[in-house]
Amino acid sequence: MATNKELQALREAATPRGVGTQTTVYADKARNAEIWDVEGKRYIDLAAGIAVTNTGHNHPKIIAAVEAQLQRFSHTCFQVTPYDVYVKLADRLNKLAPGTTPKKTIFLTTGAEAVENTIKIARKYTGRSGVIAFSGAFHGRTMMSMALTGKVVPYKAGFGPFPAEVFHIPYPIAFHGISMDDSLAALDKLFKSDVEPARIAAMIIEPVQGEGGFYPAPPEFLQALREICDAHGIVFIADEIQTGFGRTGKLFAVEHAGIEPDLMTMAKSLAGGFPLSGVVGKAEIMDSVEPGGLGGTYGGSPLGCAAGLAVLDVIEEQQLCSKAVAIGEQIRQWALSLQQDTRCIGDIRITGAMCAIELVADNDADKPDPDLTKALAAEATRQGVILLTCGVRGNVIRFLPPLTIGEELLAEALVTLGRIVRELTGEVRKAG
Ligand code: PMP
Repeated sequence: MATNKELQALREAATPRGVGTQTTVYADKARNAEIWDVEGKRYIDLAAGIAVTNTGHNHPKIIAAVEAQLQRFSHTCFQVTPYDVYVKLADRLNKLAPGTTPKKTIFLTTGAEAVENTIKIARKYTGRSGVIAFSGAFHGRTMMSMALTGKVVPYKAGFGPFPAEVFHIPYPIAFHGISMDDSLAALDKLFKSDVEPARIAAMIIEPVQGEGGFYPAPPEFLQALREICDAHGIVFIADEIQTGFGRTGKLFAVEHAGIEPDLMTMAKSLAGGFPLSGVVGKAEIMDSVEPGGLGGTYGGSPLGCAAGLAVLDVIEEQQLCSKAVAIGEQIRQWALSLQQDTRCIGDIRITGAMCAIELVADNDADKPDPDLTKALAAEATRQGVILLTCGVRGNVIRFLPPLTIGEELLAEALVTLGRIVRELTGEVRKAG
């Protein structure tokens, strides 16, 4: 079999560099929270394919469900010859989505496609054009989702012009000195100086900002936005693509705020590693589009839907929402002890198992340390831990282990990471 080095040479020759890759190790096999590369080296996976395998790699139940579906058929196209797993999964998600208003669900393939569809549906329902999103947001790489994304480099630079009528306001981030009131004041200013609320079709928000840096929105902020949307007839969209399916300790992160979004995007862990995304929303809004206006050849692949049904069973049977909380607590204790020993952990953010540390110099929030962040992630890979960075300032380490990771395996990864941070910063706990 080819080595990592040979595959990397092929990758550089055969594929564009625009698809950034975090590591240069090539996966051969993955089970639960471990990945083995083509050279047989083992890694503890704290990335879960960017929050996709909350149920672990190759969960036997999910693999069995997909194998069974594969024996039946792999594709007929839901728009031509519909099938049971699509409608059954839709029905289950309609019942699980927050709130009591009757729901309907459409399935698609990628997260960005789900985001695109929420905007189409909201525009059709309201007859309006404007969309409000947040600075630092990430909603995808297609034209509309890229327009909604609130980070220019590397996601938007050079790719414009973008669809018109997209407005950004600041996301509340206490650590950066942006309060919830600052964000609400910016929204008020937007309504006064740029666009009247009656032209706004939708507002889209990640309940915990993901790529932007793992910043949880205060529940009162989400509640305030819900009220503002209600007051002006604006469709409230929660982008739960990264936060969904138990990651934050609830099935969906908006549940922490007790609000009911009008539309909600889902992808990533929805199908535990198979490409499937969806939009679940209030039936009246979802049904505003005429037949033929929504869909796609591969949307709601039978394999993905079969996997999705098994994912929901596994989350319930293995109580993955409470596991997420336990994982978060384990990471919090580790991060707190590291914070005492060093001067580089500026902030610790734990929402269930959606965890992050923000790395700074001299304990100063205004001195982000992207170099340390990059070095830590690179050294972690060398020492057998797959770790992701994020953040608009490039100085956040995010932890997204499969929720099925055992306490011992997580502890092993954290010991390695603690050792690396202490080595990189040259700081060691003083005895006594
Ligand atoms: N929204 C959010 C919140 C995401 O985290 C992502 C992916 N990181 C997307 C949308 C886009 O999903 P995809 O990469 O599947 O298009």
